[in-house]
Amino acid sequence: MGLLFFLQLFLVALLSGGAQHTHAWGTEGHYIVCKIAQSLLKENASKAVLDLLPKVAGGELGSVCSWADEIRYVYRWSYFLHFVNTPGVCDYNYSRDCHNPSGEKNMCAVGAISNFTAQLETYGDSSSDKYNLTESLMFLGHIVGDIHQPLHAGFLADLGGNRIRVQWYQELTNLHKVWDEKMIQKAMIDLYANNTDVMRKAIQSNLTEGWLDEILEWETCTKSVAIPDKYAAESVQLACDSAYKGVDQNSKLGDDYHSSRLPVVQKRIAQAGVRLATVLNRIFDKTAREKFSKIAVV
Ligand SMILES: [Zn+2]
Repeated sequence: MGLLFFLQLFLVALLSGGAQHTHAWGTEGHYIVCKIAQSLLKENASKAVLDLLPKVAGGELGSVCSWADEIRYVYRWSYFLHFVNTPGVCDYNYSRDCHNPSGEKNMCAVGAISNFTAQLETYGDSSSDKYNLTESLMFLGHIVGDIHQPLHAGFLADLGGNRIRVQWYQELTNLHKVWDEKMIQKAMIDLYANNTDVMRKAIQSNLTEGWLDEILEWETCTKSVAIPDKYAAESVQLACDSAYKGVDQNSKLGDDYHSSRLPVVQKRIAQAGVRLATVLNRIFDKTAREKFSKIAVV
């Protein structure tokens, strides 16, 4: 794993400069999601995560949470696992929406969460030899974050806002990038001393204050270890109600948009962190897991 991982990082550095579109919360968003998740892990999951993380992570899930973005041009098959698109409607439907452009089922963020979850459930079993569980963990941590970014469940016609050009304060960019990075970066500068950990602590403190009543609902899941269909359905609704709302080609977005949408960004990051922890806690606790129906591995 070690040498291959460094080679991949090297390739990434070469390739990422030419990326045309963004496909995830920025590095800051993913770091915060995984950092929150790791702080909420129970003993079994905590040990397993430390065992599976590559050495380069230094025991920090957050430090490799953007790995899946960095290798998406190396592992080309993984490109479509970062999002799901709908045909311009505000609801998500697995059979209609979860496929790649060739029509291969399950090749979307929802399918990826189910599959990497199922792979990680083999941890400690002889059948785990079939998988690279280090990569499964890094993919899962990343994609649970991605699916909570509303425009990762946006419309196919505009590629989740990538094709909607906007003026963000003085800068020309696109709507997807505003949601992946720009709102978080502006909040960090304005509110959090330009420090990711200060922002993470502020979001995390709301878990025990403002959002306390909602957390049980975020964690609730009776049918399976993870419920990515629900995360996608929530995201496309938020894409319609918040991200796309009032935005056209060449819209000028500034303080009004930022102040009204930032609470959505912060809450989705918190939800992703809580849910990632819940999923990992279930995966690595066989007793809890047996309560849930198995998810097919592809
Ligand atoms: Zn991504």
